[in-house]
Amino acid sequence: MTKPVPTLTLNDGHTIPQLGFGVFKVDPPATTRIVTDALEVGYRHIDTAAAYGNEAGVGDALANSGIDRAELFVTTKLYNDRQGTQSAFDAFDESLEKLGLDYVDLYLIHWPSPAQDRYVESWKALEQIQASGRARSIGVSNFLVPHLKRLFGETDVVPAVNQIELHPAHQQPEVTAFSRAHGIQVEAWGPLGQGKYPLFEATAVAVAAEAHGATPAQVIIRWHLQTGNIVFPKSNRRERMAENFDVLGFELSPSEVAAISALERAGRVGGDPNTVE
Ligand code: NAD
Repeated sequence: MTKPVPTLTLNDGHTIPQLGFGVFKVDPPATTRIVTDALEVGYRHIDTAAAYGNEAGVGDALANSGIDRAELFVTTKLYNDRQGTQSAFDAFDESLEKLGLDYVDLYLIHWPSPAQDRYVESWKALEQIQASGRARSIGVSNFLVPHLKRLFGETDVVPAVNQIELHPAHQQPEVTAFSRAHGIQVEAWGPLGQGKYPLFEATAVAVAAEAHGATPAQVIIRWHLQTGNIVFPKSNRRERMAENFDVLGFELSPSEVAAISALERAGRVGGDPNTVE
């Protein structure tokens, strides 16, 4: 029997499946088919964002699936151009409507966008959205230590998660340790380095893959799960969705985890949170 996906507990008491499916760059017209495939493969945690333009397709797949809402975990995000108070409320309403849901499990500020200097105001709006019950949990994405410190100083609720670029070549040890020390779970975006960074060919990954009869992608996803990250790799291809989900039947040894952790190269593949607008 397949093992269940592990869950982690958030600082607000809700639980989150540690393995999910992300839909960044999933073409809107193809989204319903792709998310339907992911749900059929077994994923129950879907990570989308207003900026991806595919919330309606995600919502159609969820509605058509017949899966009980309580079994699903759905995340979406407030984009930079809607930061503020009323604009965040409106953007949230639009996201819920597109998703066809009456609540999301997790709502995130997508980027701090420091040049706007509105993330503290936006966070206060998310606090109100959470209080209304329409987002069970609230969190941030791409927040660095100074951004988190400002929230701690000026607002009431500690984010439940911080979703950051994180893979063996770019582990962001400072923000990861700081988040965890304050009870914030770490979500790893670009967990496979978006296929841009040559992680699959790294010796530590290849050796572990050979030892466990696994693929390099499976080894990297295991490394995330065993180092405590929440992870939602993306693929448009059903066989890869299944491959990325089939990671619960083996375990890396501590030395294999350490060898993969040693691949750190400050090898960012995405934008710099200080400057992405
Ligand atoms: P990822 O690391 O999951 O890489 C996806 C790419 O890896 C695929 O397009 C494919 O080319 C390749 N791939 C996937 N499975 C494979 C396999 N088994 N074998 C070989 N190649 C494989 O990158 P991602 O999609 O950017 O990140 C995952 C999710 O994180 C996104 O879909 C999105 O939900 C989220 N995300 C969030 C932010 C943010 O700013 N908060 C930014 C980027 C992504």
